[in-house]
Amino acid sequence: MNTFPAPKPAASATATPAEAAGQAAGGSSETGYAAGHTPSAASQASLNTEKLDDVRKLFTAHLENKGLRKTGERYAILEEIYARSGHFDVEELYAGMKERGLQVSRATVYNTLDLLVEQGLVSKHQFGRNLAQYEKSYGYRQHDHVICTECHKVVEFCDPRIHGIQTMVGELLNFHILHHSLNLYGICGDCRAQAAARNPTSPA
Ligand SMILES: [Zn+2]
Ligand SMILES: [Zn+2]
Repeated sequence: MNTFPAPKPAASATATPAEAAGQAAGGSSETGYAAGHTPSAASQASLNTEKLDDVRKLFTAHLENKGLRKTGERYAILEEIYARSGHFDVEELYAGMKERGLQVSRATVYNTLDLLVEQGLVSKHQFGRNLAQYEKSYGYRQHDHVICTECHKVVEFCDPRIHGIQTMVGELLNFHILHHSLNLYGICGDCRAQAAARNPTSPA
């Protein structure tokens, strides 16, 4: 993930408790976003186990709240999602589980994803195509996306100024902002280089 530097005073003055916690946990003090800190494999593993425990507890509460059954299939899907990195669509998730010999029905994958999105444990993105893309969201840093309209590559970036805008707009318009979605679309460097190589006379 790319992290852009932020103006210092704005970032520290508007840090939310979550961001402050992120800083204490090893994030860069300048931006409030983890940049230079790379935990050891062992501490990363225990961190992930802890996170998964939290997510399982939250999901259990949600299922109980809705009077839904706490089936092994649903938890297997949750664990598969939290074991993945990056973005995926429903078919990729389903295929990944089948490959690992996990028996789940497509319908359960769909409705479990819906439950997780509803609860905020997974975020759903459109990225300019019909096919929805998902990613885990609990305990992961807020970020936005840049999408290549040629090769459909998705790159994540963090810029704390966007959080500042969200806070300011909320205050100005008297909204309690819950979340935002910001996608930037363009043509990536690789695609521009390929186009230039195919047609050297046209400007890249
Ligand atoms: Zn591209
Ligand atoms: Zn993302």
